[in-house]
Amino acid sequence: MKLIDKENIDFGLLLSQHGLSKTSFRKFLIELFYKTHHALSVDEIINNLSYQIDKVSIYRALNAFEKNGLIHKVPDKANLIKYALCKSECSSEKHLHNHAHLLCSICNETYCINDFKIPVVNEYKGFLINNLKVILEGSCVDCQQI
Ligand SMILES: [Zn+2]
Ligand SMILES: [Zn+2]
Ligand SMILES: [Zn+2]
Repeated sequence: MKLIDKENIDFGLLLSQHGLSKTSFRKFLIELFYKTHHALSVDEIINNLSYQIDKVSIYRALNAFEKNGLIHKVPDKANLIKYALCKSECSSEKHLHNHAHLLCSICNETYCINDFKIPVVNEYKGFLINNLKVILEGSCVDCQQI
């Protein structure tokens, strides 16, 4: 998939490339993920909306985005459900993740670090692995400046 310039992404096209319907809320939602540099919770999504929408529609959109390879669930300090944008290697067939996540213990934000790669291991001493998680905890650059 070619998405050269973040400013010029056709979010409607992106949704249809992932087999998703193009409602105005879904376009807003995917754009919000592109504009935000940390993972988003449902409450943060609501705070960014200028109109009212029921939570069920938000969850439904998030589930569809996750299922079709646009976003993935990320670890969170408070065990809230948060989502972050996937890179283009994910598709509606499969998520391909081997990046680590940074968790800031001050602002509680979660960041994907896509250049911190974890070796892909499917099996270890007979144990079958289907999910790899590496979490780096500490304080983010913004929080160190306070
Ligand atoms: Zn993914
Ligand atoms: Zn922070
Ligand atoms: Zn991530």
